[in-house]
Amino acid sequence: MQASLTHIHERIARAAAISGRTGADIRLIGVSKTHPAEAIVQAHQLGVRDFGENRVQEAEAKIMQLSHDYPAICWHLIGHLQRNKAKRAAALFDYVHSVDSLAIAEALSRYRVETGKAPLRILLQCNVSGEESKEGFAATNWRHDVRIWDELRTTAIAIAELPGIEIHGLMTIAPYSEDAEATRPVFHTLRELREALHREIPHQPFHELSMGMSGDVEVAITEGATMVRVGRALFGERDYASPQGGQGV
Ligand SMILES: *Cc1c(COP(=O)(O)O)cnc(C)c1O
Repeated sequence: MQASLTHIHERIARAAAISGRTGADIRLIGVSKTHPAEAIVQAHQLGVRDFGENRVQEAEAKIMQLSHDYPAICWHLIGHLQRNKAKRAAALFDYVHSVDSLAIAEALSRYRVETGKAPLRILLQCNVSGEESKEGFAATNWRHDVRIWDELRTTAIAIAELPGIEIHGLMTIAPYSEDAEATRPVFHTLRELREALHREIPHQPFHELSMGMSGDVEVAITEGATMVRVGRALFGERDYASPQGGQGV
């Protein structure tokens, strides 16, 4: 794992330099879905502090196992969140990247307030590419379609009013492509959307862009990513037949 982590850090640093930043400006989230808690411990020993999980139940087992001995770990939920899991998610995670409706934001808000913890940091997941299989707020063509923009703006403003949660930025999943460059317009569009929404809602932090995975971190970073979600390039291929397996993405 040391070699893959070094390689990832190099990729991040090179891309950061192109966009006038350093590797330290970009948060590496190790996507540990399907991998056991031991893999997280190993990555933690090498300095990784942020971990991303797709499913609440799978994450809960690992968080319960590790949170006492590794209190510095920051847990990110990056997979689709169902309403009936919102209570657990609000209690377990530091960040939820996959908020994709006002209803789910309201549920997270209510349950987070009940925990008495600091506000939950959320990102609004946006479907920029228009792929039907992708979750997220519809955001294709938001610059030219005033209905899409109004809907996004109104929903984000309503979410910003909720107690117990803070909007830290936007997240997207680019369509899979052999050619990483093909994803650039998606990342570019998300960056512009973040700026536009932040102008409407200046009192929320709104500084994060969670975009870029193993295959396209460089493109995402040169388009302004502040968080990259890296699974395979750090932990190796996922084995969905393992006990930790599951549908994933
Ligand atoms: C699995 C997953 C990742 C990591 O993908 P890799 O290609 O393994 O780096 C990132 N983001 C989300 C939302 C995921 O589900």
